[in-house]
Amino acid sequence: SDRTILVTGGAGYIGAHAVKALEERGFQVIILDNLVYGHREPIEAHLKAKLVVGDISDRHVLDQIFTGTKIAAVMHFAAYAYVGESVTDPAKYYQNNVVGTIALLDVMRQHGVTNFVFSSTCATYGNPQQIPIDENHPQNPINPYGAGKLVIERVLKDYDPAYGLKSVIFRYFNAAGADPDRLFGEDHNPETHLIPLILQAAAGKRAAISVFGTDYDTPDGTCIRDYIHVTDLAQAHVLGLEYLLKHQDSQIFNLGNGNGFSVKEVIDTAKQVTGKEIPVEECPRRSGDPAVLIGSSDKARQILGWKPKYADLNAIVQHAWEWHQYRHF
Ligand code: UDP
Repeated sequence: SDRTILVTGGAGYIGAHAVKALEERGFQVIILDNLVYGHREPIEAHLKAKLVVGDISDRHVLDQIFTGTKIAAVMHFAAYAYVGESVTDPAKYYQNNVVGTIALLDVMRQHGVTNFVFSSTCATYGNPQQIPIDENHPQNPINPYGAGKLVIERVLKDYDPAYGLKSVIFRYFNAAGADPDRLFGEDHNPETHLIPLILQAAAGKRAAISVFGTDYDTPDGTCIRDYIHVTDLAQAHVLGLEYLLKHQDSQIFNLGNGNGFSVKEVIDTAKQVTGKEIPVEECPRRSGDPAVLIGSSDKARQILGWKPKYADLNAIVQHAWEWHQYRHF
């Protein structure tokens, strides 16, 4: 129907939260996910969405989806997202995130689907020239992950006037937290992200949390990042989709919460929230980490009327911890 949305990567961390938000808003969802990193069980247990297992580059599967149902828009989360791996195996990233996305856009064009919501990243900006970073900040990505996302941003810019493909692009800062109803959470394998690693240390599943760099030019010497609650991120996608369907107007929005927190502050918050000891190991800097990344999301607030509900770090860590403890899968 004109309320049916195809969500690629809908079995992943951010995608699953977005599907929940879409269903709460009365949209019907078809999920396309290859389940390489996504999880089937929570989708089947907690969502109405139909799950199609397949690749975004599988034209046959896409043809079947678009022929069987009228799709109003595609929300495209499916992507590999390990920055470090993108440096050691860039072909994997360009193949899936760039070539796969272009294939998806081709099939959309053939079926006359012209609305696209795209997950981009603050990694397209590279090293910040000023803080906070707004959408007009120059884009000079410093790794293949960010470079691939930037290629697709450029493709979308060209496809709008040429083919009438309208898009909303979201550039995420650090997605974190978990569903407040504990249905979904962050479960990467391998895990590389700060908050889930800290919680593993709190739960005694890992010996310590490594702090990558304590000599940065920041108040406590550790890196500052802009952590945005995944539920707020999901809500922004619903608003962006509704904006797109209503105005047929391509836009780009940062999504962050506008507050920066240092690695040490995140660890301290996790100590309070969990009431556990969290052993810390001070390590050298991780290459490619800027000292401070904070986004301005004023544009999303103004144009989409987006208001983050969980802007404080406590809620983000609390929800992540609850899910970590109570998850069934
Ligand atoms: N970080 C850390 N120890 C870890 C993982 C991450 O000190 O085990 C730091 C990392 O250097 C960065 C911040 O935590 O400053 C957030 O890293 P993450 O990988 O979660 O997200 P990124 O900012 O790289 O997208």
